[in-house]
Amino acid sequence: MGLIVQKFGGSSVADAHRVKNVARIVTDTYAKGNDVIVVVSAQGDTTDDLIEKAAEISKKPSAREMDMLLCSGEQISIALLAMAIKELGFPAISLLGWQAGFNTSSSYNKARIKKINTERLKEELSKNNIVVVAGFQGINKYDDLTTLGRGGSDTSAVAIAAAMRADRCQIFTDVEGVFTADPRKVKDALKLKEITYDEMLELATLGAQVLNNRSVEMAKKYNVELEVLSSLTNVPGTIVKEVANMEKMLVRGVTKDTDVARVSILNVPDTPGVAFRIFDKLAAKNVNVDIILQSIGRDGTKDITFTTTCDNCDTVKEIIENSEYEDAKVEINTDVAKISVVGAGMETHPGTAAKMFEALYENDINIQMISTSEIKISVLIDKEYADKAVTAVHRAFFPVK
Ligand code: ADP
Ligand code: ASP
Ligand code: MG
Repeated sequence: MGLIVQKFGGSSVADAHRVKNVARIVTDTYAKGNDVIVVVSAQGDTTDDLIEKAAEISKKPSAREMDMLLCSGEQISIALLAMAIKELGFPAISLLGWQAGFNTSSSYNKARIKKINTERLKEELSKNNIVVVAGFQGINKYDDLTTLGRGGSDTSAVAIAAAMRADRCQIFTDVEGVFTADPRKVKDALKLKEITYDEMLELATLGAQVLNNRSVEMAKKYNVELEVLSSLTNVPGTIVKEVANMEKMLVRGVTKDTDVARVSILNVPDTPGVAFRIFDKLAAKNVNVDIILQSIGRDGTKDITFTTTCDNCDTVKEIIENSEYEDAKVEINTDVAKISVVGAGMETHPGTAAKMFEALYENDINIQMISTSEIKISVLIDKEYADKAVTAVHRAFFPVK
């Protein structure tokens, strides 16, 4: 018995049937004597649909109005879930992000949680209510609604668990936990019993959408143990924590990220300070770069290639075209995908990269760029072969018996 935070993603509340199913899970937990705070996402594809609605009106809608629009998705789910809980005979109250005390930074669309004023949450719990909170949203210092970025409800849940010192934080989704690859794409993917924050953070950052990477970052910072599990089946999920039982696995997962652009800046002078000036300008505009490659200089010029997310492409073009490098040419390719293997164990196993490259070679898949760290190896390939590559690399590390 204690305080349990339960988060349900969009597919878990997609329709009336699913909302009623969530109400049953939540009230079962409450009936066992626990205090329960529930965080929910917008139903099904609501957020995508709202984005499309905005696109029908404006090519570049204001970020403030986008947040005003997107917050409405979660408002629908909290009201419906609170109704469903009451139908089962339990007390419940729905709260929007601001009512639940979510204070965020001022930047719309990608706000960061600064503080949660927990008074209202505590007050509602003391009235024995099951508290249903809208994920993904908060309020900034201008009293405007803000959203936390796609997948942000995971972060809302972890933030509440940290602020309220909850005993458990459960992230319910449409798969049974964290797998060694996306179980919808790789049928041999294995469910992990446990995984460390660091490995989960890499998997999430490199494309495993099952948890938002900022939620993992926050869970690590405040030492909130997470359980990822299915809202559709009643089986144990995956625990995300500081030290995990390694199960002798060298690699914990294989991921695919298709939100990648390969940017080549051709014909810049082969002199000191060029890379500094370019990346300094990119950083000033908040353009995050990942894999970087610089060619050997020839005839006094060189090329610099890097990867970034697709939403940065216009900014990068503008920066380079308005730079002091008049002869520089920018080439952008978004038909690429980043495939990665992640695992803390690989640091001491020199063969990991070779094994990954062999699997790609056997499938005739060309590697365009490579980057490594102690716990991951990433390669950039043609987007067309992304799923084939994940399956092949996964099979190399997790052979089917
Ligand atoms: P929710 O709506 O519950 O937040 P998401 O769609 O954001 O759910 O995340 C769950 C999805 O993440 C799964 O349906 C699955 O296809 C995908 N996924 C990708 N990689 C993994 C992985 N390694 N383990 C589990 N699920 C994964
Ligand atoms: N509804 C938001 C989204 O679709 C937030 C979330 O689901 O976590 O990104
Ligand atoms: Mg999600």
